[in-house]
Order: sequence, then C-alpha cells, then structure tokens
Amino acid sequence: MCFNLRRVSTIGEIVILHIESPEWVCDTCGEPIASVYYGTVQWLSDVDAKPGEPEAHSPIIVHRIRCIYDEKALYRNQRSLAMDLDLTSLVGTEGLMRCLDMIHERRFKDDEELLEIIKRLFIPGYEQVRHHFDEAIEAGILEPNTSHGYPHMNQIKDILAWLQSEHG
Ligand SMILES: [Zn+2]
Repeated sequence: MCFNLRRVSTIGEIVILHIESPEWVCDTCGEPIASVYYGTVQWLSDVDAKPGEPEAHSPIIVHRIRCIYDEKALYRNQRSLAMDLDLTSLVGTEGLMRCLDMIHERRFKDDEELLEIIKRLFIPGYEQVRHHFDEAIEAGILEPNTSHGYPHMNQIKDILAWLQSEHG
C-alpha cells in the first residue's frame, strides 16, 4: 500500500484526515507521485469536436514527463491532442476554481471523469480508498448509503484503517 495514515482527528462530527505525502498514485506506472511538483494532470482533446461541443475526456494524474500520453500516437490514431496542467496549479483554492471552471465551461464529454479527478485532488484519503469500495462493502466496512464513489469522510477513515490492518 502506498499511503500512510498519519493521524485522524475529529472536531465534533467532522472527521479530519492527515495523510502523509505522497498523496497520488500515477495512473500510468502505478507508483506514488512523491511530490506535487512531480505530477501533472493530462486529458485528451478531440480535434474533430464541433465548436461548442465538449471535446475533453480521459483525464489522468501521472508523473510529469516520463508517464504522460504519447502525443504523436494519439494524434495519429485518435485525432486527439494531449492537454495538461501541472499538479501545482490544480491544488488549493485556485486549483479548485480551475476545475470548477472546466465543469462550468462543459469541456468534458463526461463530467463524472472530471469529478473523479476533483475528488482525487481535494478529498483527503480518497485516492487511497477509491479502488476498494466494493471489497469494503463486501467486508462490511462500508455501508453503501451514498452514491457509489462518494463516501463520507468517516467512511474514508474506516476504509483506510481497514486497509492498514489488512495490508500493514
Ligand atoms: Zn508514473
């Protein structure tokens, strides 16, 4: 497992997760992205999209340079261009506003793809639990009482603790 749950604190009902870096797992190589400075968010933009129609899709969080899309192959095979923004410009309040603006501009063919990136960027612990919802439900750790993939923070905390106890 590539997470380290450092501390869980609560303020009333609010669960706060403090997770040590690295927070993200590269979609290409599966290795941790050691720092916000080493990562980028890429997505594809269809060159043949009609004006005013959404053209963006397939966003990924990857290591800069070594794990990015093969742009020449993309253009040749899919008529797509690879667009990117460094992770440093997609974190914090400025980063959240950039992401919200992309939703506002309806740039993505499927907003759910962008929402997944937003959750990975802004919801503490989400990156570490996002592939484990089904098994957590099966193990009785996660009660499926929210939309799938939209757990409450206390549920993320429970899954993280369970993963740690399962995998060390
Ligand atoms: Zn990588």
